[in-house]
Amino acid sequence: MVKIFNRLLDFLYPPICPVCGDLVESHGGLCASCWSRFNWISNPKCFKCGYPFPAHLDLGLQPMCPHCASGECDLDFIRSACVYDDVSKNIMLPFKHASQLKYKNLMSRAMINALRDLDLSVDIVMPVPLAWKRLFKRGYNQACVLARPIAKHFNAALDVNSVSRKYRPDMGHKTSKQRRENVRGVFKVINKDKIAGKKILLVDDVMTSGATFYELNRILRNAGASAVYAVSFCRVVHAI
Ligand SMILES: [Zn+2]
Ligand SMILES: [Zn+2]
Repeated sequence: MVKIFNRLLDFLYPPICPVCGDLVESHGGLCASCWSRFNWISNPKCFKCGYPFPAHLDLGLQPMCPHCASGECDLDFIRSACVYDDVSKNIMLPFKHASQLKYKNLMSRAMINALRDLDLSVDIVMPVPLAWKRLFKRGYNQACVLARPIAKHFNAALDVNSVSRKYRPDMGHKTSKQRRENVRGVFKVINKDKIAGKKILLVDDVMTSGATFYELNRILRNAGASAVYAVSFCRVVHAI
């Protein structure tokens, strides 16, 4: 019965590539030509933060970037599906600011795929909180839209209430040190009981310097989280 219903649905609303509109096999999937335009992150990459290394380098099984090797990244793991460039930006910015939610399946699927090699067990999936002022302006938290299917995949609870965020003006194009200072103290754990002893996966659409993930990791660890992971759809990749 469900099968017949799905076929009818496919007939009425054929699955199309959310980027170019061509017919594809399943809803939310990209056509081959659009898929090939993204700079998907694969190996070799930093084992801890997912920083992509040049493809020709043979760095062994668990390579680490200088940043993680120096102990600057305190999260257990970070993964991102693709590099932030003109192609991913054309998906990410309309999704974030113009309610283009048609991209949510493609983005969340790519993020789940980026976490596949880690075989994680996750108790809580937490979208990076938005300040109330921004939430009212935008009408939705884009990270929450992505976190919902990810929580379902991990059979984990979606938590949007345990941490709050103070409003601070946009970070713009600042250095990573300035970003870190700007985000320090903006988050607050409201419900410690929900966090203590839990393995938490943070979700955001883009990772710029990692400052937001680092700060959330700091307060979640203080509240007793036993592991903190993070995943984003794309990440800014600076040469290191
Ligand atoms: Zn396409
Ligand atoms: Zn790293």
